[in-house]
Amino acid sequence: MNLDYLEKTLEKEPSFRLKQVKKAIFQDLIENWSEATTLSLSLRENLKEKHSLNIQAEVFSSQDKETIKALISLKDNLKVETVLMRHKNNRNTICVSSQIGCPLGCIFCATGKMGFQRNLEPLEIIEQVLFFARYLKKENQKVTNIVFMGMGEPFLNYDNVLESIRILNDKESFNLGARRISISTVGVKGGITKLADENLEINLAVSLHSADDELRSRIIPANKEYSLQKILEEVDSYVKKSRRRVMFEYLMIRDLNDSNECAEELVRLMKKRKLCFINIISYNPTGDLKPSLGVRIKEFKDILEKSGITVTQRYRFGKDIQGACGQLAGESK
Ligand code: SAH
Ligand code: SF4
Repeated sequence: MNLDYLEKTLEKEPSFRLKQVKKAIFQDLIENWSEATTLSLSLRENLKEKHSLNIQAEVFSSQDKETIKALISLKDNLKVETVLMRHKNNRNTICVSSQIGCPLGCIFCATGKMGFQRNLEPLEIIEQVLFFARYLKKENQKVTNIVFMGMGEPFLNYDNVLESIRILNDKESFNLGARRISISTVGVKGGITKLADENLEINLAVSLHSADDELRSRIIPANKEYSLQKILEEVDSYVKKSRRRVMFEYLMIRDLNDSNECAEELVRLMKKRKLCFINIISYNPTGDLKPSLGVRIKEFKDILEKSGITVTQRYRFGKDIQGACGQLAGESK
């Protein structure tokens, strides 16, 4: 599927046709054109010939069925991973990828280890959502949230990511509220500032993992080029302009960034920042590094909370299928 090409096919049709076609794809979630009964038979035949609606994927389900991972094959045979996380109260979050691999090579990250292959196109991002939207439809459920926390650094593929968000948000297309969409970034020069200028109500998450510039550079090599201080300046302007909350993600890695001193440093960083909060993430080991012990996480969290910092905690999802966000490497195991 290619949206520009689709528009071209419909060029000679009255303008409401495009609306009908978008509704069929993104809202009725048709899997083949014969289901698009609002369209004439000849148009359906024409579309069937030119635009495949097929999304080829291998599916892996965790034992508890709460996490489902899809490995989608792209036109050049590369594979992209996307994950559905099922929460209580019919909340269904899709963790989408923005790139195949990632050039930033964070030491804890499976995607970073595989290197960088290419950026995903807007529709390749959207297809990840469509795949699970179709899947959920069969159970009368819907995609309720989308997080850009799969493979890749969204701000290194800024234009395509934003284009995909516009389509996902568009009332005539997928029609998911901007407040239900989140982007996670490690901090790429200018990315956060550019996002602030979009005036979109999407959520921003920043992968912090350390409040100390030197340690952060060891964990996230990209920090050497663009320091924590510069990222925080961008965050501060973002908050000032958007009045929106920012989530700082903090991965707990044993004996690396989980000491009481690390927590105190984090308190100093957070104290002066309004509307910011910490999300503590349990580490899914993908190499030599180990997750922090539960008691350590608790003490770390206590230090933050006693200082009045808002802390949330993200538990592991789908570890038996390498399906946790940030654990994706585009290979079937
Ligand atoms: N490149 C972006 C978005 C993709 S990673 C970023 O780094 O923010 C999304 C989140 O998953 C990040 O917070 C990242 O630190 C986290 N993550 C990466 N590897 C992980 C792992 N093995 N276990 C748990 N979280 C991980
Ligand atoms: Fe890239 Fe994010 Fe993984 Fe770092 S954590 S290598 S930025 S995907």
